[in-house]
Amino acid sequence: MASDLGTLQRCGAQHIAEYCDQSSSFAWPAYDIDLTPGRFAPVELLAPALLSYPLSGKKIVQPMLADNDSDYRRLYRAIESTVETQFKQPAQFDELSATHITEGTGPPPWQEFWKAWTLADRCAHITSVGLTKVLHRKAPDLVPIMDSRVRAFFGCERGARASVDAMLAIRANLDAHRDLVTSWCGVAKADKPQLKPLRAIDIAVWMHMGGCEYP
Ligand SMILES: [Zn+2]
Repeated sequence: MASDLGTLQRCGAQHIAEYCDQSSSFAWPAYDIDLTPGRFAPVELLAPALLSYPLSGKKIVQPMLADNDSDYRRLYRAIESTVETQFKQPAQFDELSATHITEGTGPPPWQEFWKAWTLADRCAHITSVGLTKVLHRKAPDLVPIMDSRVRAFFGCERGARASVDAMLAIRANLDAHRDLVTSWCGVAKADKPQLKPLRAIDIAVWMHMGGCEYP
């Protein structure tokens, strides 16, 4: 059954505090620190492992770095281009319309992201989860994380359009619960890196769906 972020009114901040606690073993802020903004390096393909989603070296990483013209290689170039374009002409996910999200139109970095998104469809071993966990850390204002728990929370688990439907749900929830999400961003209490709205949503939902201990 689909939920919305309003149901995390009572527990969301506690989930984020737990995840961002210095003594926890969660990935904040190791995953989130980006020391080379605007540039993508091969080693960054390994970052999803910090979010419990390692990309296969043999099936994904090696084909992406091979010296040929495969869909995996094109996908790697689209990832690089998304990162570079977002650095030069930054766009925010919450500026996108529903049409931008479903058709890949709109600001230039979103169009580049869409190229990567559609190429990923042609690469049997990479999923929307893997792609967004690679790209969110390089473009935290633009690319939401499509984790299976996130999709389940928003009731978008099945079908070819599940990840697009989940992005639409996140977009609508950003509008509907802006004050709540802004308050979550303050929980991490750090300037560098700053906890951004899309990551705050990811953390609150992921922790909640992993088992909520707050009645
Ligand atoms: Zn909860």
